[in-house]
Amino acid sequence: LFLSSMNTSPTALSVLQNTFGYPDFRGEQAQIVEQVINGGDALVLMPTGAGKSLCYQIPALVREGVGVVVSPLIALMQDQVDTLKELGVRAAFLNSTQSYEEEAAVEAALRRGELDLLYVAPERLLMPRCLGLLQSCKIALFAIDEAHCVSQWGHDFRPEYIKLSVLHELFPNVPRIALTATADAQTREEMVLRLQFENARKFVSSFDRPNIRYTIVEKTNARLQLINFIKANHADEVGIVYCLSRNKVEETADFLVKNGFDALPYHAGLPLEVRQANQARFLREDNIIMVATIAFGMGIDKPNVRFVAHLDLPKSMEGYYQETGRAGRDGEPSNAWMAYGLQDVVQQRRMISESDGSDDFKRVQNSKLDAMLNLCETLTCRRVHLLRYFDQTSEACGNCDTCLNPPQSIDGTEQVQKLLSCVYRVGQQFATGHVIDVLRGNTTERIEQFRHTDLSTFGIGKDTSEAEWRAVIRQAIAQNLLFIDFDLYNALKLSDAARPVLKGETSIRLRQYSKPAKQKISKASS
Ligand code: ADP
Ligand code: ZN
Repeated sequence: LFLSSMNTSPTALSVLQNTFGYPDFRGEQAQIVEQVINGGDALVLMPTGAGKSLCYQIPALVREGVGVVVSPLIALMQDQVDTLKELGVRAAFLNSTQSYEEEAAVEAALRRGELDLLYVAPERLLMPRCLGLLQSCKIALFAIDEAHCVSQWGHDFRPEYIKLSVLHELFPNVPRIALTATADAQTREEMVLRLQFENARKFVSSFDRPNIRYTIVEKTNARLQLINFIKANHADEVGIVYCLSRNKVEETADFLVKNGFDALPYHAGLPLEVRQANQARFLREDNIIMVATIAFGMGIDKPNVRFVAHLDLPKSMEGYYQETGRAGRDGEPSNAWMAYGLQDVVQQRRMISESDGSDDFKRVQNSKLDAMLNLCETLTCRRVHLLRYFDQTSEACGNCDTCLNPPQSIDGTEQVQKLLSCVYRVGQQFATGHVIDVLRGNTTERIEQFRHTDLSTFGIGKDTSEAEWRAVIRQAIAQNLLFIDFDLYNALKLSDAARPVLKGETSIRLRQYSKPAKQKISKASS
């Protein structure tokens, strides 16, 4: 008690040093550990690699009883437990991969009070039998890892997470700590509400990853752009390439292999053995490029991933931050690179529109996508923009594409007016390709059929290339001047915000269009 004025209890520090072999706590670890040791709840937002595990492992060792860690990452439990055992910590896990005998042994050890840490999958924890067993034990704490999985709006949503509020009800005196590396304002609110963390102390670390250089390029030929990017920056290094669909994952992996890279595919449609084998090679070897859907990566702790590339637009800033955050966990310079184009916007909007979520769900998804589009279109520092989304401030970083090569913006009002009035003149009934044909004065069969040659907007944009019109349309959609009606052959339609622009009451800034550099690539076969 006479030590209570110190920030860190000596026991916590001695566990850190003697068991884990680290001299000091990092960042807010000491305060977090202290909060939990003293029996309080903690909500911890810390970027990947910052050291979340110690925040519950140390209190579990200092407090009496077993620390129960709820984690959705069944595949990693074995490794985590093995690592802890090597350090002399009495750890075990319970999940569906175990034999009956293994399970019984863990339960017996638990009953005898011989465990310091127990990792459990949420669906297992919630079984009445398991909860009953825990009620008969002394529990040091509950740690809820990857707590953003409780968010219904997020892409890692796990329904069982919502039921974890039962812990608070059944074990009102056991401290709880919820941890995540990604949470925007909405997700934070959901974590507090659904997990009943109203009385928790919140610890929000800086989300900045200064060693990651962010770059978002205009998509022309994504695969060639990717190869050029890798050759120029990351020959023989480890990377992850994210694609939206399983097909695209396989095609891209094949393409990289044909071009001489050690690339492997990873998606949920591959047989379990293949996934496990590919993941094992990725972890073990030091030049593998993993081409994957977002099914790959949560909990993957490979320090020397030098780049993360996106060939498709992530659904949200949280997804983008989480996926790019897998680069450079060792603190060495790393790249987050993305190719992005009009088709990405169309595709993501369509997926939201065609999903069977409620209107509320679609509204939230669309606003998450809007934020992501703003990051892509921004003319200012990407990092400032990204951090602002997580309620954090930063100076222009000098380590992102917009800082290094500031994009020029132009007054695009007239060009956008041409576009919007053309959309209006064709009756808001035609998709991108046709609108561009009208603007450029192409006499196609459809244009003749609908007598669009007679429109006042026919040919008013003939000096602008098709690629540039696509870039303008993309920005007009990103700025919510236009939207796509997926129930009407993907027709472009005007939104309310288009009116003041058409009337000349608002002006519009656009990125200055620069013709994509000629793709040159040696012996690339596609
Ligand atoms: P997170 O779960 O936040 O992604 P981890 O808990 O896996 O991060 O920790 C990342 C790495 O940092 C691990 O290798 C861990 O051992 C190391 N680490 C954590 N805390 C400290 C510390 N106080 N001193 C030194 N290394 C630490
Ligand atoms: Zn910057």
